[in-house]
Amino acid sequence: MPTPLVEVDALSREYRLGDFVVPALRGVSLSIFKGEFVAVMGPSGSGKSTFMNLLGCLDLPSSGTLRLNGQDVARLDPDGLAALRNRNLGFVFQSFNLLPRATALENVELPLLYAGVHAAERHRRAREKLQQVGLGERIHHLPRQLSGGQQQRVAIARALVNDPPLILADEPTGALDTRTSQELMSVLQELNDTGISMILVTHEPDIAAFAKRILVFRDGQVVEDRAVAMPQRARSMLEGTA
Ligand code: ADP
Ligand code: MG
Repeated sequence: MPTPLVEVDALSREYRLGDFVVPALRGVSLSIFKGEFVAVMGPSGSGKSTFMNLLGCLDLPSSGTLRLNGQDVARLDPDGLAALRNRNLGFVFQSFNLLPRATALENVELPLLYAGVHAAERHRRAREKLQQVGLGERIHHLPRQLSGGQQQRVAIARALVNDPPLILADEPTGALDTRTSQELMSVLQELNDTGISMILVTHEPDIAAFAKRILVFRDGQVVEDRAVAMPQRARSMLEGTA
């Protein structure tokens, strides 16, 4: 067996609110391997975002373990954790989270700026990723000069710029209309075809139908974990051949 990209064992997270304890995640154990495309589903409040925040090392578990690419995140110091995240993870959010006064190119370059990559190399890599998501002609546009779908592509290019093996996306189509959502899913599927793994939260069955595996959360636990026999291809739907 290859090393899982994500391996969680008895992962739990509780929030304390005064005298109350909210068990947001209750003992989740599973592995996710290279090449998977996982949709995370479940009702509001079932623990999906808590799970994603733990996978993204944006939050720490109350108990249980998380290994990313074989490394136990609890054993790393802050620098080690930051390095592990930069090497392994890209993030896409529902609200795009772009800097409004920076161009598409500058937004995508940002993670490389933090990593100390020099300017020419930053431009080259950011431009390449924008071309990969179909925005090669719009690199000098500001976010407000782009549609919602185009802004989300900029966010995907930014998530890709360090060449991570795994993208975490929390409701990336939540702010997009149906057709734009399908276009975005076709971008994610084409990236997945190149071997990049995806973990994507959605509450829309139409979006989950593009995934290869579906996890359903309820009350902080995984109540269903199933493979999708024949995932829909977003590209064929857009071209009207499915
Ligand atoms: P989902 O993303 O599936 O809607 P969340 O993971 O956001 O669910 O929330 C799971 C549970 O944890 C909910 O009951 C929610 O109210 C609670 N919760 C989430 N974040 C916090 C927080 N920062 N403080 C207290 N409770 C929280
Ligand atoms: Mg959520």
